[in-house]
Amino acid sequence: MKILVINCGSSSLKYQLIDMENEQCVALGLVERIATKKSILTQKVDGKKYIIEEPMENHTDAIRVVLGALVDHEHGVIKDLSEIGAVGHRVVHGGEKYANSVILNDEVMKGLEECTKLAPLHNPANIIGINACKALMPNTKMVAVFDTAFHQTIPEVAYIYPLPYRLYTDHSVRKYGFHGTSHKYVSDKAAEMMGKDIKKLKLITCHLGNGASISAIQNGKSVETSMGFTPLEGMAMGTRCGSIDPAIVIYMMKELKLTVDEVDNLMNKESGLLGISGVSSDFRDVNSAATNDGNQRAQLAIDIFCYKAKKFIGAYAAVMGGVDAIIFTAGLGENSSRIREGVCAGLEFLGAVLDKSKNNVSGIEAEVNTDDSKTKILVIPTNEELVIARDTMALIK
Ligand code: AMP
Repeated sequence: MKILVINCGSSSLKYQLIDMENEQCVALGLVERIATKKSILTQKVDGKKYIIEEPMENHTDAIRVVLGALVDHEHGVIKDLSEIGAVGHRVVHGGEKYANSVILNDEVMKGLEECTKLAPLHNPANIIGINACKALMPNTKMVAVFDTAFHQTIPEVAYIYPLPYRLYTDHSVRKYGFHGTSHKYVSDKAAEMMGKDIKKLKLITCHLGNGASISAIQNGKSVETSMGFTPLEGMAMGTRCGSIDPAIVIYMMKELKLTVDEVDNLMNKESGLLGISGVSSDFRDVNSAATNDGNQRAQLAIDIFCYKAKKFIGAYAAVMGGVDAIIFTAGLGENSSRIREGVCAGLEFLGAVLDKSKNNVSGIEAEVNTDDSKTKILVIPTNEELVIARDTMALIK
């Protein structure tokens, strides 16, 4: 059976068609600039690109073009849409209501609407994508897979903020955590690589990309994670500041007279690697400025990123009373030996010793610790789409 995985943003849409016989991706694509005259779809099959440039007025239009590309007799990969057994949708926020993936029906759609107040930037786009798909494939089963669900096992002591308790009871203000499908995928894969039962492992998973989060996974369950009520908490990221003294927000509003939207924009879009370096939010640009141009602030941005990750790793080892493996994933975790080296420097006290020559890898599964390192250090390319497809398959069976 083939499963279509859809990840819908406000003006873009990513998709993958996965053959569940061998769990291989048969086609993947991206639609950008939806609702403009310059909409563009780029589909890749076996590395070959197929590009469609035509105005797509809305997400229904975009999904119509995606389905057309998948069945295209020259560039497509299936003869007709009946070959798609089900659709798995990535949904960012499932609140406390959804601790697992669910088959989409009218009641769940209502539940998703209720969760939009918790993720006003993301959930509405996810819902639009689901509705667009339902309109074009009314007889195909659909499943929602939540970014937050994997972290619903985090204990109360970790998810309650030290605010008046009524903020939790009356307004659902608590830590939720994100990147759940990624943390789940790499922790399962780590156990497989180590040849150990995940129920007996203490893992720290570092999803280091433009968005970054670190999780503690004990016995296969998420017990702590760095993102919080929103994806702004925790690590310094590409453009997000991560955790800061909350009084800085009040200071910026009172003293600098910034509005709510200006503060929101500053912390989400102007901070992190970009804010510190003044160069870029993209690590490759920041790294080049630090290495080739001797840019001190670019170097500081990289040092701060690594320092924050190290602090989370130390804290999470304390939370679990030890750590068997530290796992690196996502754009930076998978590809940057420099970031992995920066994060692991000084972690020898935890038994984690990086082998610098083994660490010279990019985008592949690898063990990069020394032979005598007690704690494993693993590089594992993430595969969130496969987790979505697996959950979808399991539910529709
Ligand atoms: P993601 O959000 O997971 O796509 O990660 C994006 C981040 O990964 C950006 O900061 C990129 O600069 C970084 N990145 C992607 N590929 C590489 C690479 N080959 N080497 C170093 N950094 C990379």
